[in-house]
Amino acid sequence: MSKIGNYVVGLQEQEFFIECPECKDTDQHGKVTSEEFKWTGDMYEPFETWVDCNNCNGLGEIERDFDDDEGNSCGQ
Ligand SMILES: [Zn+2]
Repeated sequence: MSKIGNYVVGLQEQEFFIECPECKDTDQHGKVTSEEFKWTGDMYEPFETWVDCNNCNGLGEIERDFDDDEGNSCGQ
């Protein structure tokens, strides 16, 4: 009995997180491209660099927003 209960809880926990829309399309999980200026000797030039995604803090997933689902979870 308790095994089944734990299994259900595990499934529910996964649903609390969704892929972060800001960085899910990048190759680097949880990171986004940004421009960084570096001194090349006589001028600053922009380089593309990877930084932690601000939206998910580099986790690649964000907590699901359940506000919209409120009142829609009757039954069971
Ligand atoms: Zn992100």
